[in-house]
Amino acid sequence: MTIFDFREGRYLSIPANNIIESIIMHAPSSYFKGIGRIELYNNDFQNKKYASVKYSACGSKSIIKLYFDYFDDLPKKVVKHEIGITLWLGQMLLHEVFHHLRKVKNERKLDKQSEEQLIDDQAMIKMAELLKEMYSQEELSAFSEWYKTDVTESDWE
Ligand SMILES: [Zn+2]
Repeated sequence: MTIFDFREGRYLSIPANNIIESIIMHAPSSYFKGIGRIELYNNDFQNKKYASVKYSACGSKSIIKLYFDYFDDLPKKVVKHEIGITLWLGQMLLHEVFHHLRKVKNERKLDKQSEEQLIDDQAMIKMAELLKEMYSQEELSAFSEWYKTDVTESDWE
């Protein structure tokens, strides 16, 4: 699997390639089976999505597309923090991976909203687990301390 980075300008300051590679390294290998490539873009003008997983016409391998204007909606200070980026980027990536897994496992489709909610929950739980493998306890404690004291409700507005 290859990462294709089509981002331009300020979004390039988000160290996405390293973080995605690290997530892939720590996640179960079954997650990325059947995924041919991950593509990174500034935004999705047409559909205004944050991420998607698509199946190419010619082959069976899927393509995950991630759009980085998603990060414009997050507090700026969080986006400067590597663990913060890893957390949100990872949730976005795993969300699409779980769509992919449900499709290849042929799981019964729920209604759109329940499906999205289920997958969001799965991605959040898994990403919390992965963070523990990617960072030391000290680094994670420092992040959560910093988050608790420095990030307020108003940062999310
Ligand atoms: Zn979704």
